[in-house]
Amino acid sequence: MFSSVLIANRGEIAVRVIRACKELGIETIAVYSTADRDSLHVKMADRAVCIGGPAARDSYLNMSNLIAAARNLGAEAIHPGYGFLAENPHFANLCQTHGIKFIGPQADVIEALGDKAKAREIARAAGVPLVPGSDGVVHNYEEAEEIAENIGYPVIIKASAGGGGKGMRLAHSPKGLKEALITARLEAGAAFGNEDLYIEKYIEEPRHIEIQILGDETGNLIHLGERDCSIQRRNQKLLEESPSSGLDPSTREKMGQLALDTAQAAGYFSAGTVEFLVDKYGQFFFIEMNTRIQVEHPVSEMVTGVDIVKEQIRIAAGYPLSYAQEDIKIEGWAIECRVNAEDPRRNFQPSPGTIGQYIVPGGPGVRVDSSVYANYTITPYYDSMLAKVIVWGKDRPEAIQRMKRALNEYVIENIPTTIPFHLMVLDNAFFQRGEVYTNFIQRRISDER
Ligand code: ADP
Repeated sequence: MFSSVLIANRGEIAVRVIRACKELGIETIAVYSTADRDSLHVKMADRAVCIGGPAARDSYLNMSNLIAAARNLGAEAIHPGYGFLAENPHFANLCQTHGIKFIGPQADVIEALGDKAKAREIARAAGVPLVPGSDGVVHNYEEAEEIAENIGYPVIIKASAGGGGKGMRLAHSPKGLKEALITARLEAGAAFGNEDLYIEKYIEEPRHIEIQILGDETGNLIHLGERDCSIQRRNQKLLEESPSSGLDPSTREKMGQLALDTAQAAGYFSAGTVEFLVDKYGQFFFIEMNTRIQVEHPVSEMVTGVDIVKEQIRIAAGYPLSYAQEDIKIEGWAIECRVNAEDPRRNFQPSPGTIGQYIVPGGPGVRVDSSVYANYTITPYYDSMLAKVIVWGKDRPEAIQRMKRALNEYVIENIPTTIPFHLMVLDNAFFQRGEVYTNFIQRRISDER
């Protein structure tokens, strides 16, 4: 096993990785920006080093500072968490060049799957159904128009290098398509430094369902069932659950197998996620594969009992998977709510500031992954997620009740958060019946108040 791991991240995921390392007996090295001196991950790690100023490009995205820190402090491996450099093939390569193990898949696999148009090709070749759309990148309006006519409007224009819901545009007509191409290209260029676009048919009222996979370096691959991430606001996930209320056992089995086929075709190891949209008729389509640990991984941990981050670290250290597919049993129901420092009454405007009193929920079946504490100051430099509340129940109704109970216990004084919004979702009769889809919030909860 590694003797020490540097965590190239901040916030709750840095804390999550530190916990996994401690349980594995690994020394932990935190990195932090000057804005994060008082962060929990800094306090929890065995050692910590400042890597630059508040702007992410000066610190958490600063590859040479991160590599220098790892070398100076003798880290054997780097865990990238999610976001920042987690899906950056150059960083994975750089780690390797410096003899530091990158905890994730190989750089060329990150690169291939990070290009969503290429990822579609890999999935198609593995026999996975895709959302109808372009074969790879579209080069001009004429080409786009022809494809859109063939698959039928509405269509969605997506950035090949996209992520976080950015660079996506809907078009209902040829005229709309022209505008969508221009704005999506501009947005993709600015956000990702890559203007490549592709087209997909817009699926009406789909569920977002993803399969968590784990693979080791000798080619063993297993999946941990699905997560339903249909509760989204502006294409960003807010509440996730496992299993999904919308899958029958045979579809679950098929999606799991196709996720493994995709991973195998890509030469994948480490933790990863294969994402699908499932339409109203139960047909499912591949959308992308994420090559990192995901925010919502705890719901899979709660229903399978597998510690995904520990497995990920063990795999990087060269161990075989601790589980075979037949060891994986889905038990009960888990739900995660992302608690963001955002004000739902002010159009989800970020609400940084200093927390006063802070009381964390507990009791049976409750887990809170967070990086804040009483008197902690949330700065405006990074994303606004301050905690994830995850609950387990024997079935979905118990999980919903337990989540309501836990969120009502949670006191985060002085900071408007998304907790009241989550309580509205949890109380919604359609949600309680499991009738969810990606535009649920828009349709069922009036969010622009
Ligand atoms: P990103 O990597 O930016 O998160 P994804 O491809 O994973 O982008 O899509 C994010 C979300 O956007 C999906 O969960 C879904 O809500 C919506 N979406 C993406 N593609 C389609 C599509 N073809 N039809 C309808 N909704 C889509």
